[in-house]
Amino acid sequence: MTAAAASSDLDLVALSGEIARRVGVKAERNAPLAKLTTMRVGGPADLLATAHNAFELRALIRFARARGLPLTLLGRGSNVVISDRGVRGLVVHVRAEGSRVDGQAYVAEAGVPMARAATETQRAGLSGLEFGLAVPGTAGGAVWANAGAHGADVAAVLESADVLVADGTEARVPGAELGFGYRDSRFKHQQPEAPDEVVIGARFRLEPASADEIKARLDDIRRWRQAHQPLGIPSGGSSFRNPADGPSAGELIEAAGLKGSQEGGATVSEKHANFIVNDRRGTAADVRRLMDRVRAAVVESAGVELVPEIVFLGDWGGWPWPGAAA
Ligand SMILES: Cc1cc2nc3c(=O)[nH]c(=O)nc-3n(C[C@H](O)[C@H](O)[C@H](O)COP(=O)(O)OP(=O)(O)OC[C@H]3O[C@@H](n4cnc5c(N)ncnc54)[C@H](O)[C@@H]3O)c2cc1C
Repeated sequence: MTAAAASSDLDLVALSGEIARRVGVKAERNAPLAKLTTMRVGGPADLLATAHNAFELRALIRFARARGLPLTLLGRGSNVVISDRGVRGLVVHVRAEGSRVDGQAYVAEAGVPMARAATETQRAGLSGLEFGLAVPGTAGGAVWANAGAHGADVAAVLESADVLVADGTEARVPGAELGFGYRDSRFKHQQPEAPDEVVIGARFRLEPASADEIKARLDDIRRWRQAHQPLGIPSGGSSFRNPADGPSAGELIEAAGLKGSQEGGATVSEKHANFIVNDRRGTAADVRRLMDRVRAAVVESAGVELVPEIVFLGDWGGWPWPGAAA
């Protein structure tokens, strides 16, 4: 099934015109998505609209819901593999990037890059978001994932999230009610293409500290990442979740002798076995096939069933596909 055939029941020309008239945002038809993800794979969105502020974000979500249109949120695309067949309905690229320091709190719209949150709060002499430097995603994506690194995570510092709920109302939900666990939140358990709850903004509660000391911690994190992660090459970060106990996913993959394993343009990184890197010619199918192979090999070698950390977005119907990419 091609993207064009699958979307033939949607009148994309009419819908994109309506989005322009009602929301005031341009919606591109059959828009390539690979370049909006860190893995650099995947087919087109039926419709792609960029929300540059929280007002546009709310309006686009309400439009999709009112029309019963499949709706997919995309932050920095740093935790996803988008199908080569693309994504049906409307993809909203979240670029609402307003932020401010409010006393000891940092208030961010959903599209604020976490690395920027880390440096802005450092300059304000507020500690707690240093780990954001290691997370190449947005504040909204970080809340969704309960992203974390270097012994810290979103759950530890999130005071509340502003959430647009399915009935169109908006709620300020305390962090304690968001179901946070290891790389987990209640947002992760919804349908990626019909999310009931969308994160519009976040308020982080931080601690005053010396800007110089925070800067030293940011420098340490930068050095650690350079030394341990394959940066500058397309990837989706950690491919699998770490098991609750025992060796990490990376250790299990390395012990199974899988470093350097390849499927098409996708390779298990030599630098960090839990990263899959794309030589820029890889397809989403290459990545998924390699992840399937890694899973099977680790079951075989260690009896452990690894669970993907990366989310597969879009049309993956009928996977595994025979033969070529799509
Ligand atoms: C090189 C590299 C290193 C990484 N290191 C780390 C690390 O150290 N720690 C860590 O935790 N993660 C890490 N990651 C993973 C990733 O950066 C995080 O999971 C991040 O939080 C994802 O944010 P995003 O904006 O890119 O989300 P996306 O990948 O764009 O989206 C992920 C999911 O969240 C949903 N979503 C996005 N925005 C919203 C919103 N506003 N409301 C509701 N749902 C939303 C999407 O629909 C999708 O299902 C790394 C990734 C890479 C590529």
